[in-house]
Amino acid sequence: MLVGAENASSMEACRLCPRGCAVNRAAGQRGVCGAPADLRVARAALHYWEEPPISGEDGSGTIFFAHCPLRCVYCQNADIALGEQGRPVSVERLAAIMGQLQEAGALNINCVTPTHYAPQIRQAVERARADGMALPVLWNTSGYETVEAIEANSGFVDGYLTDFKYVDGTLAAAYSHAADYCDVALAALEAMVETAGEPRYDEYRGQERLTGGVVVRHLLLPGALDNSKAVVKLLHERFGGSVRLSLMNQYTPVIARFAREGRAGARRALERYPQLAQTVPDDEYEALLDYADGLGVADYFWQEGGACEESFIPAFDFTGVDENC
Ligand code: SF4
Repeated sequence: MLVGAENASSMEACRLCPRGCAVNRAAGQRGVCGAPADLRVARAALHYWEEPPISGEDGSGTIFFAHCPLRCVYCQNADIALGEQGRPVSVERLAAIMGQLQEAGALNINCVTPTHYAPQIRQAVERARADGMALPVLWNTSGYETVEAIEANSGFVDGYLTDFKYVDGTLAAAYSHAADYCDVALAALEAMVETAGEPRYDEYRGQERLTGGVVVRHLLLPGALDNSKAVVKLLHERFGGSVRLSLMNQYTPVIARFAREGRAGARRALERYPQLAQTVPDDEYEALLDYADGLGVADYFWQEGGACEESFIPAFDFTGVDENC
């Protein structure tokens, strides 16, 4: 394994994500994601609000990493995406966290927003497995990944929980500063399916569990039903049953709270996109589900009302980071 060498070189001219900043993180420079060279973690704990075969009843072993390359203006986890909640963690400690999550009963190891720390996470997975960690490893990503990054995960990552946010490039540019999102995410998704295979399941401690393959999540945004329909159509036509879709209505306007609290970025974004202060109307979500049904999309995940509450956003309070999960 060359993960150690890979780690050093990727940090000296970072191109770990499609932003391709080429900054020297090892020398203290920061790119778009704002991440330093060393791992930062905000929370590591059992999490119960993923799709049923991911959370089960016992919970998903979820590790929330700090910082994010995409930095969507409406981000539901902005406290960690902006890096305000993240504590330094060694590779050895991350491997120990994975083992502790297994002991706590987790169905899997669920790495949330891992892209910018990928070499260290792969190193930790290798170490944890050598120490007896046998859970499936899931890569929970915005979908904005390079093909090279996905290929590098082969052998370390069993499955993907990946977003597919936009077909509409104007929306992608406005909300995520990534007009190329659709093309980039599509190429990455093809690499995920190629390397992780089709969704597969087992029974783990009496619960159905996803053990590998790709779940593609799409969050319906306020006033963006046409974009969502285009996403569903594209994914259905391109991938069919090779991925499992998860259509989500849990958009939570945390941006409105951030603006009220005086965060300048949130205030500016809301002035430009006031629709982001709203939740998604039930009838728009129903229209999206009807559209998926009409296309013949089979066996997708969907959400019941009430998911758009801040109580579903966990506390990024360093639970499980320094001490046992
Ligand atoms: S991981 Fe961060 S520093 Fe590296 S290319 Fe992406 S945004 Fe830039």
